[in-house]
Amino acid sequence: MTIPKKFKLQTKTFEVHYASHLNNAGSDPDQDILGLCHMTDGLIYIQKGLIDRELELQVYYHELAHALLYHADGSWQLTKNEELVDRLGHLLYQYDESKKGDLGTAVNKTLKADLTKFVNTKLDEEGE
Ligand SMILES: [Zn+2]
Repeated sequence: MTIPKKFKLQTKTFEVHYASHLNNAGSDPDQDILGLCHMTDGLIYIQKGLIDRELELQVYYHELAHALLYHADGSWQLTKNEELVDRLGHLLYQYDESKKGDLGTAVNKTLKADLTKFVNTKLDEEGE
C-alpha cells in the first residue's frame, strides 16, 4: 500500500505531506495530532516519524475519510463526526490491505464495434 502525493476529489486537488509538528490549534476541524486534513486548502499532513508503517497508513486513511465525507456530504456535518470518520478510515485501510487480483474487463468488443458502426451509419444518413 502506498500513500499518494496527490489525489483529486471533485474539483479539489489534495496534496499529502509529512509534518514535523502537528497541532490542532486554530479552526481546523480535525482534533487528531497524528494527522490533519485542511479541507479548504486541500492538504493532508501526517506526523513525521511515526512508530510504524501501519500506523502511518491508518492515520492517512483517517484523514482521507475526513476528506471523503466532506465531499460526499457537501457540508461539515459528517466530517466532524470523529467516530464515523474513524470507522470509515479503518474500512478504507482494510479494503486497501485485503484487496487481491484483477477481475479484468468484461467489455464486449464485438458489441462495441457493432454500436460504433451503427452510430457512424446513422451519422452518415443524417449528413446526406
Ligand atoms: Zn479525525
